[in-house]
Amino acid sequence: MGERRIGVVAVQGNVSEHVAAIERAAAATTDAVSVVEIREAGIVPDCDALALPGGESTTISRLLGSEGIDEEIIAHVEAGKPVLATCAGLIVASRDARDARVDTLGVVDAAVDRNAFGRQVDSFEAPLDVAGLDEPFHAVFIRAPVVDDVGPGVTVLATVEDRPVAIRDGPVVATAFHPELTDDDRLHRLALFDPLEATA
Ligand code: GLN
Repeated sequence: MGERRIGVVAVQGNVSEHVAAIERAAAATTDAVSVVEIREAGIVPDCDALALPGGESTTISRLLGSEGIDEEIIAHVEAGKPVLATCAGLIVASRDARDARVDTLGVVDAAVDRNAFGRQVDSFEAPLDVAGLDEPFHAVFIRAPVVDDVGPGVTVLATVEDRPVAIRDGPVVATAFHPELTDDDRLHRLALFDPLEATA
């Protein structure tokens, strides 16, 4: 089978960490994988899967719009192709960020509260039970959003204090924390590789 091309949306944020995590995950598979950083329109349509990193959601959403990448990500999800969105990526992917400065993509049927944890505590780490993973995942939260409302088609994969922090909506897995900041690539595999393998 041909090479799998995985794009990391690279307009702003934790780009290199996602590239490294995807390369680690790819090393564990037998398939050829290439990773491409996306800063302009025209690349997403050639990608089999995408990572939408954390960073600053107002900046990311503005740049996605001005570069015309936003419509391409929406088409990618409508075609059923996998996405892993993390932290600010979750905010940008959501239906509603409860903040007019963030022009959300609406590819995850969830409303989020930006910096919900951040108002109480800037960042924290916690072992997290995630549906689909055998062992807890060491989750790093940095000024993390909280999911405060999910649509009927959304599966909650993990919670902190009964609030969703990892969700799946069809081909999109979205986390409030930063799986790219640990050596553990299981969420990248769950989101970006396993769905592709299931349909290969
Ligand atoms: N709170 C940030 C925002 O709203 C996201 C933080 C992050 O991605 N680490 O954009």
